[in-house]
Amino acid sequence: MDTKTKVAVVSATEYEQGQIDLAVQNLINQLGGIEAFVPQGAKVLLKANLVRDMSPDQHGTTHPTVLIALVKLLEPLGCTVVVGDSSGGLYTKGYMGVVYNKCKMTDVANATSATLNDDFDFQRAEIDGVKIKNVDICNSFFNADVVINVGKLKTHSFTGYSGAVKNNYGLLPGLVKVEIHSRFPDLWDFCDALVDIEQFSSQKVVLNVIDGVIGMEGAGPTNGKPKFIGKLIASANPYLCDVVAVSLFDDPFKQPLLQKAVERGLLDEGLTNLDFDLSTLKDDYVADFDRVEVVSTNTFLNMPKWMKRLAKRYLTPKVKINKKRCKACKKCANHCPAKAIKMDKCSNSVGKCAKVNQKECIRCFCCQELCPYDAVKLKKSWLYHVIRALSHTKRKKNGSVETVD
Ligand code: SF4
Ligand code: SF4
Repeated sequence: MDTKTKVAVVSATEYEQGQIDLAVQNLINQLGGIEAFVPQGAKVLLKANLVRDMSPDQHGTTHPTVLIALVKLLEPLGCTVVVGDSSGGLYTKGYMGVVYNKCKMTDVANATSATLNDDFDFQRAEIDGVKIKNVDICNSFFNADVVINVGKLKTHSFTGYSGAVKNNYGLLPGLVKVEIHSRFPDLWDFCDALVDIEQFSSQKVVLNVIDGVIGMEGAGPTNGKPKFIGKLIASANPYLCDVVAVSLFDDPFKQPLLQKAVERGLLDEGLTNLDFDLSTLKDDYVADFDRVEVVSTNTFLNMPKWMKRLAKRYLTPKVKINKKRCKACKKCANHCPAKAIKMDKCSNSVGKCAKVNQKECIRCFCCQELCPYDAVKLKKSWLYHVIRALSHTKRKKNGSVETVD
């Protein structure tokens, strides 16, 4: 079996531990069993998606039952398992402690022999990518012999979708992620940077698992709505893993990150190397999934710079603060890569709220990701709606997507 081309998909109806244990076991067995990826006695990092301190019931983070099931597969191999991630905020013991508690990673540590990562240091790594030459990477990555990347199936306001490849971004410590956003405000460049990070991480990431039992639709990655999808997806190949996951609700090649993978020769658009029959998902297609429509940045590639700036201004949604919801906690301002947010007087319950300088804003949507009160909204322009209407896609219930522009 070529483990790099195979993708496995299993169904699960809820996060009941017994059911998830069986589903994960079946999932990994389809790929040849955990021994095919992890050596006996290895130090394993389970790299979860812990984007923010949010409850598993909000379905923006990897569910603890999925991690518990994976640890149970690793324990008989005598592995030392560490669960970790670097969230959107600070990468410190205090901040990550709050995240571990809220995301119920403590359940994983209580139910298994796994520990939660407590090394919040990082090292400069030579990446030698297309966009990133060197960057700080969390020690938890270097401490492990192998990494299992355990992402969440969800929308992402900036990149469109987050699953396997995007999840590697959490190998960068806290505010370094903000720095990368500010260095690559253009989505197409940012996707290149994400592919650079994936290529670097592939030296240790042996397996990718996407938790899509209940994913997130709408204003992901943190403020969307839970959506039942009923699937767990796994592959040694993160791009093929994402292709299959996105096929459950959209055309994968509309995703900028997968377009970028095609451009860089990491993914074949004809999917000739995919060892999975997509037609078997025909009845599982979630036709009413509320997707994030990213206007393809491919469209901007050959435009002159001034036109790109205009296109970005009118085609990417604007950040708007809901003054009533805002509690002036400053999380957004403290992490805005463009320093475009200030607190201003306002007539809400706390007398203050965040105010965005639209000229400075690079539209990375980190503020939306981090706001604990769902006070950051994205407002699309009329031009965006016109262009989307002109190039709309007609979705068929059988899972395939037919472009009608
Ligand atoms: S918009 Fe959200 S993150 Fe920003 S200050 Fe208001 S409540 Fe805090
Ligand atoms: S205001 Fe929000 S979207 Fe704009 S640059 Fe700052 S964090 Fe990014």
